[in-house]
Amino acid sequence: DEKETVAVDWLIDQSLILISPELKLHSIALDISIKAEEQLILCNQIQLLQVFTNILNNAKDAIVELTSLDESHLFHKVISISVFTRAERIVIEISDTGNGIPMDLKNKIFQPFFTTKPVGRGTGLGLSICYGIIEDHAGSIACRSEEGRGSTFSINLPQVIAYA
Ligand code: ADP
Ligand code: MG
Repeated sequence: DEKETVAVDWLIDQSLILISPELKLHSIALDISIKAEEQLILCNQIQLLQVFTNILNNAKDAIVELTSLDESHLFHKVISISVFTRAERIVIEISDTGNGIPMDLKNKIFQPFFTTKPVGRGTGLGLSICYGIIEDHAGSIACRSEEGRGSTFSINLPQVIAYA
């Protein structure tokens, strides 16, 4: 469980390299706003990449799901990533224009094995693993969502302050 100091925008880039082919395949656009360039976090890189790719993959699934229900949604398939600092914390927000999460399921999504996906398409382990990893990095993860409109996952991690 080795942790290193890495730039958060670099980690985001790495996860985008992994996920972009899948986004292209589904004509999903990316909207990226990084206001925390070269901001550092202390992390296990593999684990944080796992968190970002899990959330991006869920965002993709949510958009594909909505597209299959609503043709008019074809013109609004976007995943937005926003990174900024707030009170010596780094905030990473990943939003999608997907199907959203019904109110009554919102408190279940971080539980292991909770999934709404067909057998073989989801294990329901992704978000519970994300939760554990972020907790182990002294961070927090939360979700806001509106059914039929989309979701935002917000991750908050301690910022490493580099003194000159
Ligand atoms: P899995 O992806 O294998 O189903 P996860 O733990 O990653 O497991 O997610 C659990 C459930 O949370 C999903 O099945 C889905 O119902 C819901 N969910 C997660 N992310 C999103 C999202 N971006 N939009 C809508 N629902 C989501
Ligand atoms: Mg998942």
